[in-house]
Amino acid sequence: MNTLPTTAPVAALAGHLSGDDLPAYVYDLTALADHAREIRAALPPDIELYYAAKANPAPPVLRSLAPYVTGYEVASGGELAHVREAVPQRPLAFGGPGKTEAELRRALELGAERFHVESEHELRLLASLAGDRPVDVLLRVNLPLTEAALGGAALAMGGRPSPFGLDPDRVEDCLPLLTPDGPLRLRGIHAHLASGLDAPAQTAVAARIADWTRALSARHGLDLTEVNVGGGMGVDYTRPGTRFDWKAYGEGLADVAGRHPGLTLRIEPGRALTAYCGWYVTEVLDLKHSRGEAFAVLRGGTHHLRTPAAKQHDHPFQVLPTADWDRDWPRPAARDEPVTLAGQLCTPKDVLARGVPVAELRAGDRVAFALAGAYAWNISHHDFLMHPKPGFHYLGG
Ligand SMILES: *Cc1c(COP(=O)(O)O)cnc(C)c1O
Repeated sequence: MNTLPTTAPVAALAGHLSGDDLPAYVYDLTALADHAREIRAALPPDIELYYAAKANPAPPVLRSLAPYVTGYEVASGGELAHVREAVPQRPLAFGGPGKTEAELRRALELGAERFHVESEHELRLLASLAGDRPVDVLLRVNLPLTEAALGGAALAMGGRPSPFGLDPDRVEDCLPLLTPDGPLRLRGIHAHLASGLDAPAQTAVAARIADWTRALSARHGLDLTEVNVGGGMGVDYTRPGTRFDWKAYGEGLADVAGRHPGLTLRIEPGRALTAYCGWYVTEVLDLKHSRGEAFAVLRGGTHHLRTPAAKQHDHPFQVLPTADWDRDWPRPAARDEPVTLAGQLCTPKDVLARGVPVAELRAGDRVAFALAGAYAWNISHHDFLMHPKPGFHYLGG
């Protein structure tokens, strides 16, 4: 089957949990640390790696990443305070559209190391709150990307009308607010332009942003020293055994950095760091056939794991068979046929995978959904229908 098998510690725990202990999110923090270490090693040492906390802000996850990341990107006042507490003293970059005055004040109090400013209005607001505290700013710019640079981007964001960042021709209007004697110091440019790109496309995006930043710097006699080229490194849910090619990207970034001496390159991936370390484990409550098609009804559903509903995909899963069946009637089962895995919600949209072939799936078997370590629990509508919350288990680390 096309999935990422559970690691041994996750499989062992899944085997021990009773039906009432399920569903459960099970995270393998050792696997997470191994993955993050490999990414760090694939990148040139002077490339800064920030983790975009919105992908999965669970404190054990944030702490497991700490040895391998330079800092964390946070996109709300909530994330800012949360990450500051979970991993104190680590650099924070505060981004996101629609920052409130209260959030900006809080970020100034907590001493966020970088502010990613999204508009001229936001820049003025920040200047008005900064007092004479020096504040380090990156302007977020919505740079146009050519189709060729993007390849098959799943969710392209750059260069189209967008609520994110500034259009390139608006940047000049911001420069008078960023004079060397003012509190706001323009360090460089931030751009997060696309999601789901492979390494060559990501490298092309990074080169584009770095080139543009240097040209801006030269045109206005600025001393821009930083470029944050964003996240969006692809996670392929249809081929969960494959990973973004960090080695190729590291080589690409080394090349870009080599052409721009004095410019620090920073990246801020979310999903590609944490997606692989989490599984959503549950059990088959019922297995039935309707008009010739097999349906497994699972404990839990998309109110815990919204990812397949949000992305409209069949979420990769592994069947973990259980032998015990102590009822005195036959065990409902599907064999050598496609099965649709649905949840407990009273809506036909509560489907985690549709018509996926299985060798055998029976009531009482466990199912472990892979790639549930990012944009999974924290994007889900937990309270719909008031089913119990899942358990959370953080193994190793
Ligand atoms: C969401 C986001 C990221 C992380 O995106 P991934 O696709 O999870 O890598 C990075 N930067 C910004 C500004 C974001 O909004």
